Amino acid sequence: MSDQEFTRTLGYANAAFDLLKRSGIPPYPQFYELLYTYATGVNPSLNNRINAIFRSGTVPTSDLAETLYNEFLKADVNDRMSSVSERMHARIEAVHEAIDTAMTTANAYSGSLQSASGDLQRDLTGEGMKVLADRLLSETRRMQDTNRQLEAKLEASREDIAALQRDLDDVRRESMLDPLTKIANRKSFDEGLDDAIEEAKKSNLPVCLMLLDIDHFKNFNDTYGHQTGDQVLRLVAMTLKSNIKGKDLAARYGGEEFVAVLPWTDLDGGLIVAENIRKAIQAKELLKRSTNEKLGRITASFGVAVWHPTDNAMSLIERADRCLYAAKRAGRNRVVAETELVEIDVEPAKGVSAA
Ligand code: GH3
Ligand code: MG
Ligand code: MG
Repeated sequence: MSDQEFTRTLGYANAAFDLLKRSGIPPYPQFYELLYTYATGVNPSLNNRINAIFRSGTVPTSDLAETLYNEFLKADVNDRMSSVSERMHARIEAVHEAIDTAMTTANAYSGSLQSASGDLQRDLTGEGMKVLADRLLSETRRMQDTNRQLEAKLEASREDIAALQRDLDDVRRESMLDPLTKIANRKSFDEGLDDAIEEAKKSNLPVCLMLLDIDHFKNFNDTYGHQTGDQVLRLVAMTLKSNIKGKDLAARYGGEEFVAVLPWTDLDGGLIVAENIRKAIQAKELLKRSTNEKLGRITASFGVAVWHPTDNAMSLIERADRCLYAAKRAGRNRVVAETELVEIDVEPAKGVSAA
């Protein structure tokens, strides 16, 4: 590293420390990295965001720093998956090379043994015998060395592959979670619902599906900002999760919509769960963490449907969705069950036009 490079990077480090100190953000490595990156200016969108925060006079908090870190710096699941896969390839390549080398040496050794056996057919003098024995000994040592190297490489690979396996498990777990709310994502929901339907078919036990959508959330974001909106999404996710149990699966369906799959639960049971969650969300008085400013309350609308033997996952979701939109139309902050849908809504008759 040149002196110039040293001075420059030290300048970035000092600037990052100053910013951490001034903002009262603890200098954990990820926050330091965030502000170091800011100081270098290599990530213009990160700098724009941080400049806007400084300009707005908002006091940056650890939560905000964490959000920015996750958004701008943390490698996403795909990056991490590629890195694990690259390392796996490199490891496999190294094992192949080690095996190739061992095989070449083994072949050469077998050639030496054959030629020694040919030599032994002939009458050998005492001196000739000694030369042959020395040659065999040195070939055998070479073979032993190669084998030892192969063993060492295989042992190293074993440890490496175990570490890779752990990384892969982490990445797999993460790929099933929504990064913002840390509850199941759409992909895990799709799989969970399919499984629940399969189980319902076998067991004849009911399975209920609940969709919820936050009311007027666009207004909330427009009024209090996206960051605060994100906090609300986390709060709703936690409220949803803490009001279900056991085999139930809560997931973020997308944007400000959440979903819960409730196995072994009939429509009445699902309605009780939905009503509890509706009340719990409405009961929360929202406070902006950084300023303690009161943000009022939010509400959500719910659609609840139960699986019928004629349903597949899609038709069940669609019915719950129609219930959800019926709840919106009826004034929001309420739960609508599939039994409340008007006949035509449940199953549009063929050939009947809406006009
Ligand atoms: P409605 O009661 O009819 O559901 O009204 P709404 O405003 O909630 O619905 P609309 O579909 O018009 O807007 C959804 C808004 O949700 C848009 C966007 O501001 C917000 N939103 C979606 N995803 C996110 C997110 O990841 N973070 C934040 N902060 N807001 C989000
Ligand atoms: Mg919506
Ligand atoms: Mg909404």
